[in-house]
Amino acid sequence: MDRLDMFDHIPKVCQKCGGVMVFKGVGEYQCEKCNFLDYDDYGKVRAYIEQHRGATAMEIEAAIGVPQKTIRRLLRESRIQVAEGSKSFLHCEICGQPIRSGRFCPQCEVAVHRNMEEKQREQLRRDKKGYGSETGGEGQRRFMREN
Ligand SMILES: [Zn+2]
Ligand SMILES: [Zn+2]
Repeated sequence: MDRLDMFDHIPKVCQKCGGVMVFKGVGEYQCEKCNFLDYDDYGKVRAYIEQHRGATAMEIEAAIGVPQKTIRRLLRESRIQVAEGSKSFLHCEICGQPIRSGRFCPQCEVAVHRNMEEKQREQLRRDKKGYGSETGGEGQRRFMREN
């Protein structure tokens, strides 16, 4: 399982029709078949904070069910509260480019998601054909370095 997925509960399959959820940016995903919208943890927290400014991690957890641990991690990574004018830069985990927030630069973030979406499509195709479970090989290739 990809680290990105493990952390943020990325919706991969549409709850309505089983289609592939395509990354739209800032934690938002849309089904490529029926256009159903869904969110990962970041998207949920972000949407909640937009509507409830000053909410505490406890209130957020109670309202949307994202664990406080995850909320604090998102805040720590500055994915939600980006410090304006900050001189310290983060670096993209893939290409090393300086970035203002999160773990990847926008290009690499999209690339990571496109890769996951493609894997999900393969998975759906395999399921339809009845090939059974993934056995490794090309589908196991990782974009993220191991820590
Ligand atoms: Zn759908
Ligand atoms: Zn990058």
